[in-house]
Amino acid sequence: MEELLKQLPQKAKDKHNESKKFFAKLKKKPPRNLDVVMQQLHEEEFQQTDCLKCANCCKTTGPLFTDKDIERISKHFKMKPQQFINTYLRIDEDKDYVLQSVPCTFLGADNYCSIYDVRPKACREFPHTDRKKFQQISNLTLKNVAICPAAFNIVERMKELIENR
Ligand code: SF4
Ligand code: SF4
Repeated sequence: MEELLKQLPQKAKDKHNESKKFFAKLKKKPPRNLDVVMQQLHEEEFQQTDCLKCANCCKTTGPLFTDKDIERISKHFKMKPQQFINTYLRIDEDKDYVLQSVPCTFLGADNYCSIYDVRPKACREFPHTDRKKFQQISNLTLKNVAICPAAFNIVERMKELIENR
């Protein structure tokens, strides 16, 4: 996995223009069954990819924290929301709460998340490859394929499947 993660940014860069064109076409005319196709591709990929061997999202980016996330997680720590914010978060250029530093403070050396049951929504949903209307998040996906090997594989498989319709 380590080798694969090292090569991933370059692999994503090599495919960037091709993927960008693919998503531009997809946005104009998404297949009617796109949600079903994405669900299948997502499930197939995550049957093979073990996030516990990777954790690259937790190591390199970290999520944004919504007010609900902050409320839930601070309660878990028996902290006041503001105390949680002061300890762990900062506001980024988009005015969102994000981690003060990466790798995420809550990631263990064994790649387990110490707040798994109450983790932010963005962590639960990453890399968003099973969301509905996937064509709407192409810019985000083009970034995620350089971080997440599963997202990279899903997009490559998607291009094969949809371009060869
Ligand atoms: S979601 Fe992607 S980047 Fe995160 S641990 Fe799983 S495979 Fe790795
Ligand atoms: S909260 Fe948990 S799942 Fe989210 S980035 Fe941190 S370690 Fe990963």
